[in-house]
Amino acid sequence: MSEPIPSLAELHALGAAQQPAYPDPDAVAKVVAELRNRPPLVFAGECDDLRGRIAEVAAGRSFLLQGGDCAETFETVTAGNIKNKLKVLLSMAVVLTYAAQVPVLKVGRIAGQYAKPRSRDTETRGGVTLPAYRGDAVNALAFEPDARRPDPRRLLEVYNHSAATLNLLRAFVKGGFADLRAMHNWNADFVHNSNVDSRYEELSDEISRALAFMVACGVDNDQFRTVDFYSSHEALLLEYEHSLTRIDSRTGAPYNTSAHLVWAGERTRQPDGAHIAYLSRLRNPLGLKVGPKTTGADARELVERLDPDCEPGRLTIISRMGAGYVRDALPPIIEAVEATGRKVAWVCDPMHGNTFETATGYKTRAFSQVADELNGFFDVHHELGTWPGGVHVELTGDDVTECVGGVDELNEADLANRYETACDPRLSRNQSLELAFLIADRLTD
Ligand code: PEP
Ligand code: MN
Repeated sequence: MSEPIPSLAELHALGAAQQPAYPDPDAVAKVVAELRNRPPLVFAGECDDLRGRIAEVAAGRSFLLQGGDCAETFETVTAGNIKNKLKVLLSMAVVLTYAAQVPVLKVGRIAGQYAKPRSRDTETRGGVTLPAYRGDAVNALAFEPDARRPDPRRLLEVYNHSAATLNLLRAFVKGGFADLRAMHNWNADFVHNSNVDSRYEELSDEISRALAFMVACGVDNDQFRTVDFYSSHEALLLEYEHSLTRIDSRTGAPYNTSAHLVWAGERTRQPDGAHIAYLSRLRNPLGLKVGPKTTGADARELVERLDPDCEPGRLTIISRMGAGYVRDALPPIIEAVEATGRKVAWVCDPMHGNTFETATGYKTRAFSQVADELNGFFDVHHELGTWPGGVHVELTGDDVTECVGGVDELNEADLANRYETACDPRLSRNQSLELAFLIADRLTD
C-alpha cells in the first residue's frame, strides 16, 4: 500500500528541478486551491486497467504505442488536430496489429503534455535574453518579455484544454470513429506518398475482407468498433500534478487523475529528488525515461524506488539513447533491472537522443537515425532474450516538415515549408506510418 503523498512544500524542499520561477506565490496558491476542487480527468479504475495492460506488454504479449506532440499548445486544441493525431495513432496501431499480429496498447502523449523541461533557463536572440519557453503550462512561445513571464493561471488552462481534448478523444474512440471498417477514411485527407500508401491500402483491403468474412459468419464484435485509448504526459510541474492527485474512494490510494500514465523525464529523475518522491507514492502506472549516461546501478535504484512491490505493469522504462549509443548503453540497464526480478515494459523513444540543429537554426531529427535507434533497440532485446515492448514517438497527424528524411525525402531546405512544433521536431503522418511498417517488420523477423 502506498505511503501518503508528501505536501507541495515537502516536495519543493527536496529541490525540485525544472520548476518555473513564479513571481507571486499567492497567485500560485490560489490556482492550486482551484485545481484541487476540479473534477478528475480520468477515473482511478481506468489507471488500474492500464496497469493490467502494461503487465501484458511486460510479459511479451502486447506492444505499446505511445505518441503525440512534444508539446501540446492551447492554440492547437482543435477538432481537426485532435482527429488527425488520433488517425495516425490508429493507423499505426492497425499496421502493428495486423502486420505483426500482436495486440497494441494505445497511449497518447496527449491531453496534458503542456510542460517542457529545458536545457537552458534563458534564450538569447539578437542580443536580447528572455526566460526560455517552458510549454504553454508555464509561459507563451512568443519571444516577448510579457509572453515569457511564468503565469500560474495557465495551469487552469492546461486543465481546461486537457478536459476538452480527452472528451473528444473519448467520443471518437467509443463513438464509431475508430471502427475498423472506417480505416480507409482515416487515410483520406493526407498528402499521399505511394511508398507508404500502397502498403497501407493493401492492408486495409485485406482487413476489410477479413471483417466482411467474419460478419458473414455471424461474428460482429464490439472490439471492431471501439478502441481503448489512454492519456499520458510527463509529470513535470509539481503544482499541477499534485493538485490533481486524488484519493480513490474505492481503495484509499492516491492517483494522479490528470492522466492515466505519467512519466519522469530524463532531467527530473534524480533518485532523491521531488519528482521521484511524488511519483513513487502514486498508484498510476509510471513511465521512466533513461538516457545514455544511466548506469545499471542508477536504473536499479530508480526501479526500487518507483516499484517497491515489484508489481507487473507498474513500470514502463522508456530508453532514449541516441542511435550511436543504444547498442552499448541499453544492455546494462536491462540486465540490472531484470536481475531485480521485475518485469517492466521496455519501450524505445528513438527521438530524444537524436536531435540536432541545422546550419539554418532548425532543431531536427533524421528519420534514418530514428530508424537506426529503433533497430538497435530490437537488436539488443533480441540478443538478451527480452521483449521489445513498445515505442514512444513525437508525431503529429499533419504533413509537417520537421524531421528530415523518410519516404518524402525531406531535406534541410524543406524544413522551412511547414515547421510548426512549439518544441521538438515531430514525425509527419507519412514518416509515422513508415515507422510503423518498420516496427512491424522487426516484430515479424
Ligand atoms: C520529452 O519527452 O519531450 C522529453 C523532454 O524527453 P526526455 O525527458 O527523455 O528528454
Ligand atoms: Mn520532446
